[in-house]
Amino acid sequence: MDTKVSAAVLARPGHVEIREFDMPPLGKGAAICRVLMAGVCGTDKHSYRGETVQYKGTENEIDLPFPIIQGHEIVMEIVAIDEEGARNLSYDGDYLKVGDRVTICPDVVCGKCWYCKNIPSYPWCEHLQFSYGNMRSCNDGNHLYGGFSQYLYIEPGTRVYKVPDGLPNSMACFTEVMCVAYTLEKAREFSGFSLEGFNFGDTVAVQGSGPLGIAHIAMARMMGAGKIIATDISDYKLEIAKAFGADVVMNSEKTTPEERIARIKAETHGRGADIVVECVGRPEVFPEGLKYLRKAGMYLEPGNFVDCGGVDVNVHEICANNLRIIGMTNHTHNCYHTVMEMMLREKDRFPWDKLFSHVFPLAEAEKAIQTSMTKESMKVLIDPWKQ
Ligand SMILES: [Zn+2]
Ligand SMILES: [Zn+2]
Repeated sequence: MDTKVSAAVLARPGHVEIREFDMPPLGKGAAICRVLMAGVCGTDKHSYRGETVQYKGTENEIDLPFPIIQGHEIVMEIVAIDEEGARNLSYDGDYLKVGDRVTICPDVVCGKCWYCKNIPSYPWCEHLQFSYGNMRSCNDGNHLYGGFSQYLYIEPGTRVYKVPDGLPNSMACFTEVMCVAYTLEKAREFSGFSLEGFNFGDTVAVQGSGPLGIAHIAMARMMGAGKIIATDISDYKLEIAKAFGADVVMNSEKTTPEERIARIKAETHGRGADIVVECVGRPEVFPEGLKYLRKAGMYLEPGNFVDCGGVDVNVHEICANNLRIIGMTNHTHNCYHTVMEMMLREKDRFPWDKLFSHVFPLAEAEKAIQTSMTKESMKVLIDPWKQ
């Protein structure tokens, strides 16, 4: 195994530098992995821009502890693991060994608090230990806690998942994003009540057609959505939304809010969408999205993971239209295996290649983040071994 590790470090907002670390020794119950590929997430862009407060108003509120190695959408190969790690790290109960291809849930929880015990499938922990690529400085512990690096150090308590054979690295990197699209599964839980939540054949409107929006479009299709309507400010992204199954797309820079609301009503017998999902990651789109809904429609909010401030909302409209608003920070960590199996099964159904628009070497990590913020990019990947 290498003794030195190169990683892209976000030293402070807007400043990425390549640093060299000593390979940490393997601790008890831990694993060391060679990173094969890592995705640039919306959260990484927020951090780069200086929008660094997460979990605001909760016991886990944090302002990111720079310097950090970013990257939490990661596919890796295990290069070192002890017996305890081999037996305990897999969430699915697999015995892990050197050479296994794996991914992780970024959130490491305590397993002991009220939320961990009572809502065990969600990382809503009161004592969130940390989150890979995000919440632990590379000055601390075993340093290598982000995917924009040649190696990642996996601490005991991490949820590790074996990647099925045949799933390309790029798609394996997308697992965490697809897991966030389990917001639609949450909405479906409400379908046990008459005309509530997400039902077969429902109209789903997705605000924002970046990678998270595309994940929701693909998931909505797989789960039996009827009409899918997507918005974005980029025609390039809207073309990909169409290729993934959106029936109607609207460019938010070329249409007015009134036109978009009217179009959605026209597409739904004048009633409005059954489900709206916010995948822009900006609070400004929230009031408009509420107006897309039919009475008792459900608004899903997974996008504003980072604190970007508030907006004015007419609360009366929520009351008058019996709206249901579901906030979803994080994602269920028991769906990784299912998501990977489903992506493998649907490998030829969706044009995944269009989703992975760029692959950068580690030395160009900053360019990768900047590229991911442009209109002409989708999921940007970093291959730390690419020259
Ligand atoms: Zn992510
Ligand atoms: Zn906990």
